[in-house]
Amino acid sequence: MTASSPSSPPVVIIGGGPAGLMAAEVLALAGVKVELFDAMPSVGRKFLLAGVGGMNITHAEAKSAFVGRYGPRAGELGELLRDFDAEQLRAWIHGLGIDTFVGTSGRVFPTDMKAAPLLRAWLKRLREHGVVIHTRQRWLGWHADGRLRIAGADGEQLIDARATVLALGGGSWARLGSDGAWQPLLAERGVPLVPLQPSNCGFEVAAWSAVFQDKFAGAPVKSCAIALPGQPPRLGEFVVTAHGVEGSLVYALSAPIREAINAHGNATVHLDLLPQKTPEQVLALLHKPRGSKSLSNHLRSALGLDGVRAGLLRELTDAATFTNEAKLAQAIKALPLTLVRTRPLDEAISSAGGVPFEAVDKRLMLTQLPGVFCAGEMLDWEAPTGGYLLTACFASGRAAGLGVLAWLNRAEMELSC
Ligand SMILES: Cc1cc2nc3c(=O)[nH]c(=O)nc-3n(C[C@H](O)[C@H](O)[C@H](O)COP(=O)(O)OP(=O)(O)OC[C@H]3O[C@@H](n4cnc5c(N)ncnc54)[C@H](O)[C@@H]3O)c2cc1C
Repeated sequence: MTASSPSSPPVVIIGGGPAGLMAAEVLALAGVKVELFDAMPSVGRKFLLAGVGGMNITHAEAKSAFVGRYGPRAGELGELLRDFDAEQLRAWIHGLGIDTFVGTSGRVFPTDMKAAPLLRAWLKRLREHGVVIHTRQRWLGWHADGRLRIAGADGEQLIDARATVLALGGGSWARLGSDGAWQPLLAERGVPLVPLQPSNCGFEVAAWSAVFQDKFAGAPVKSCAIALPGQPPRLGEFVVTAHGVEGSLVYALSAPIREAINAHGNATVHLDLLPQKTPEQVLALLHKPRGSKSLSNHLRSALGLDGVRAGLLRELTDAATFTNEAKLAQAIKALPLTLVRTRPLDEAISSAGGVPFEAVDKRLMLTQLPGVFCAGEMLDWEAPTGGYLLTACFASGRAAGLGVLAWLNRAEMELSC
């Protein structure tokens, strides 16, 4: 009943990332005429980038733990994932002829680790179902008569849409299309927005010393733990950068670090440089007679502390600490590192903020703009890396597509009454 007649206007999707493409698929499979517009020369650019280091598409952990990754938005994401969870996502990928496997960490990858074959197979299926994809077409908002303003090389056109799905992405990696330029377009229509902020991002220190920066910028810190105040330490790896720190362990903690900086102007985390050793063991090792060895040599030979970890110890403590074994042992186990700001949003893996769930109904339709739905990273949720980002984009794209179908259905029923 919601299927399009040849003369009816299309449902318009703006944004050809995973969320927009998934909404397009749901609608096209239901027989609805779909036209998708994207500002870039091709769709799925960030999705392809996500595949560069190994496409981690979802995670195999238990559903309750999975949903908990969305933090304060676990309730809303839990609802979306009820209809399309990690298992269903994997089945959908298999349906495209792409196999998946679960890595040792529980992360799920396509067998060849790549995004391109999946995207190719998906776009083929979408086109076979009649989805028309227009690239290099930028959405500029709405004309006074309600039609969509779309600008391309040939100028601006006004498009009539039965319904619209906005799947415009967050605000990082603008060169791949997700530039956040949609924010004023929605704000001027009265849609409340939460400012976009970096998520899964690096952080800056006030300043590394020139010596430390020269020697260690780019150095990976393996097998280290980071503790936030009042929280158990978390084990992993990070990288020292010219300005501060980045890498998987830092990304995993990025939301609480960012929020602490927002609240207090800075955030002090504690590095455990020897997480496999207890404070008592560290002290005992420091106490071992070192003969004529320098303290640096003693730290290297007795504790295995050298390179960047020894550098951090020197950089983040004062000289007096090195003359007091108890203080030194304490510094090795809980070295305070003060972070003062996030790296710029454009560098982040993802963004927090955007359209709050309070601004959309259960079907992801904007209450301010009936017939306009939102999906993907432009909605206000965040999650760590591990496949949670893409899973939420697919699930919300699907929900928005189903939401449009319900909306068209209801509109037709009202017309026939
Ligand atoms: C380096 C990197 C690695 C990543 N790795 C992973 C990973 O391994 N696993 C994971 O789960 N996630 C990963 N992510 C995150 C994931 O790629 C994103 O969360 C996801 O692509 C967001 O999907 P989306 O559909 O919401 O938006 P996007 O993929 O950003 O797509 C939005 C689209 O909207 C278009 N658009 C924007 N504005 C307009 C406009 N005005 N008019 C027309 N078109 C417009 C853009 O051109 C773009 O094509 C990674 C991200 C990065 C940057």
